[in-house]
Amino acid sequence: MSGPPVVLVPCPLCGADDAEARWSTPDRAFGVPGTFTVAGCRRCGFLYQRPRVRDDALAACYPDNYPRHQEPSPRVPFKGSAARVRAVRHALATALGYRAFEDRDASALTRLRAKWLGSRLRWSCPPWRGSGRYLDVGCGSGGSLGVARALGWTTVAGIEIDAAAASIARRFADELHVGAVESAPFAPARFDLVTAFHVLEHLPDPVAAISRMLAWLAPGGLLVLEVPNAGGLGASVFGRAWSGLELPRHLWHFSPQTLEALVRRAGGDVVWCWHQAKPRYYLWSVRAWLADRGHSGVARMTEQPIVYGALKLALELALPVVSRLGRGEVIRVGVVAGASGRSKPAC
Ligand SMILES: [Zn+2]
Repeated sequence: MSGPPVVLVPCPLCGADDAEARWSTPDRAFGVPGTFTVAGCRRCGFLYQRPRVRDDALAACYPDNYPRHQEPSPRVPFKGSAARVRAVRHALATALGYRAFEDRDASALTRLRAKWLGSRLRWSCPPWRGSGRYLDVGCGSGGSLGVARALGWTTVAGIEIDAAAASIARRFADELHVGAVESAPFAPARFDLVTAFHVLEHLPDPVAAISRMLAWLAPGGLLVLEVPNAGGLGASVFGRAWSGLELPRHLWHFSPQTLEALVRRAGGDVVWCWHQAKPRYYLWSVRAWLADRGHSGVARMTEQPIVYGALKLALELALPVVSRLGRGEVIRVGVVAGASGRSKPAC
């Protein structure tokens, strides 16, 4: 069976039209026919799908059961006992800027618990900014919008290209644009925070998309981007079996350095860079790696709860080290418009 139509595009980072094939894989997740290749730019090293699926054929690469379009309920942090909720509120106030939740009389125990919670909550709760106007680009079924609504954001808006996902997201949104980033009607300088989680690697023109998102920021606003890290441990160890490749849906494969350079090209500046590594990302890579070597039986064994549990525990102990070394599976960066005045790169 022949695959979708493809096109050769130059490197979006430096414009060079010369790249060396690095990894080729079929679509491991949804079985789009064909073999897809990631190449490294010979001038700047940026990794991207080359040739890549043509713009008009991209939508057909996403099946109806695409996970991003069927996310579970929003991960609202106010769960559990009254004591836990007090600690969550304190963590939001102290670590993420939610002054509305400030409690000067919090006990020492609440403060301690809040400190521990803060490092986890920062991954699921957006940092408060300005007067609380929030836009999530590529909002899927609205998980992040639901969290923002529960946290008291004053305007909650989304952009989603998939109509079915958008219809689920709509219940959390004041405004929702169903369509592409380029066609979204929002006026410039309208939002205090714009986020795009695992979106950039899917968009045909990432530089144009970032500069559009930066234009939506009000003065003092923040853009938060999250992508798989092609400079992480998983990509070096597993190569073509790395779970972040996700061909043919991922068009670009960023490292912290190439993401920072791309952001600068779009007129922004990275002010911080966090790493994350979830055990399941490595497990997916391990399974693909084993399957590539004809050990599908062993690969299936890793799905057994006891094997999965043991691997998960081992990985959870090792992951903080990986993250501290800057070799996580996922990177999240904070971006401001224009120059931040930083003298050193953030990544
Ligand atoms: Zn390049």
